[in-house]
Amino acid sequence: MRMKSTSFHSVPIKHIPRRTCLACRQVKAKRELIRLVHAPDGNIEIDTNGKKRGRGAYLCPVWECWETGLKGNRLEYALRSHLTPDNREQLMKYAKDLLKGAN
Ligand SMILES: [Zn+2]
Repeated sequence: MRMKSTSFHSVPIKHIPRRTCLACRQVKAKRELIRLVHAPDGNIEIDTNGKKRGRGAYLCPVWECWETGLKGNRLEYALRSHLTPDNREQLMKYAKDLLKGAN
């Protein structure tokens, strides 16, 4: 009887979905990024549970990325959508609350 001292089990490589932050262009695991969705009603919404339908774009949970993404037209470009001033403000507010803490 022969005993193998070592046996290699092939560990299946888990496929991790990766997305690019539209501001800093860093590729990260999808769950590390915040998804923004162009909703059917035309609004751009934050998709907190990843279940909203529509064209999505991703941002790091970092204030700088939100600032970059929202200030210019990168988000609009990524979502092929027009961001209304109200919508932009709403997203900025969300980012401030979420990323800047109690300010
Ligand atoms: Zn980023």
